[in-house]
Amino acid sequence: MSTRVAQVLTIAGTDSGGGAGIQADMKTMQERHVFSTCVVVAVTAQNTLGVLDVEVMPKRIIDKQFEALADDFDIKAAKTGMLANAEVVHTVVENYKKYNFGPLVVDPVMIAKGGAKLLSDNAIDAVQNELIPLAYLITPNLPEAEKLSGITINSIDEVKLAAQKLQELGAKNVLIKGGHFDNSSESRDYVLFENGEELELVGQRFETNNTHGTGDTISSVIVSELAKGRDLRKAIKTGKQFINASIEHGIEVGHGHGPLNHWA
Ligand code: PLP
Repeated sequence: MSTRVAQVLTIAGTDSGGGAGIQADMKTMQERHVFSTCVVVAVTAQNTLGVLDVEVMPKRIIDKQFEALADDFDIKAAKTGMLANAEVVHTVVENYKKYNFGPLVVDPVMIAKGGAKLLSDNAIDAVQNELIPLAYLITPNLPEAEKLSGITINSIDEVKLAAQKLQELGAKNVLIKGGHFDNSSESRDYVLFENGEELELVGQRFETNNTHGTGDTISSVIVSELAKGRDLRKAIKTGKQFINASIEHGIEVGHGHGPLNHWA
């Protein structure tokens, strides 16, 4: 007997080290019991110590991957991760508008923890003006929120202002991840919903080196839950629980910033 399963899409770069990027996305989606598909926009040669090299895919093959998926699958929600440069952002936006892949979660990946640039500076405009208006949810960390909103963030009030700015740019809902002010031992995430409601998620901060792929993982949980028809508030809470457990029950792989434990 066969079972119908929600189908989901990640549009991002690969991580040969398996801890971030498309690999982290698809592992997470599997754990959330959805069927994952992908559009590869860049290939990184990477391990837990850093990014050695990046090759951006040509427009032709990005377009063809979208076409192949649209021809055959019933995708209920999609996310973007590393988009590399402005040309890729244009291509992704063009394809997303052409097909019906459900709500879009935009994780505006810019710089890897090891310092490698995953989005060129000249792509910021395209993210602000073309991609953000399509976002059902955007999930920046603090540096990404600062860059996209133009607001320097030193307090929770400034987090709120940045979230409002991202809504003005067109994102329906905004999740700003991981504010920790006043050397607090807590981590705070702030959500501004479409209807103006707010949610603050306060959690423990774990002292660990093994947080490679955290952003990819939480956005993958959220998009999986949306594909299953869960409401956004519930999806975000599930994402947060998944991340906390994955960090708390860490695994040891590689010699640098290790990956999360996706089975936790
Ligand atoms: N490599 C790729 C391809 C990614 O998409 C991401 C996502 O943020 C990273 C690396 C960053 O990983 P890290 O969590 O170590 O910053």
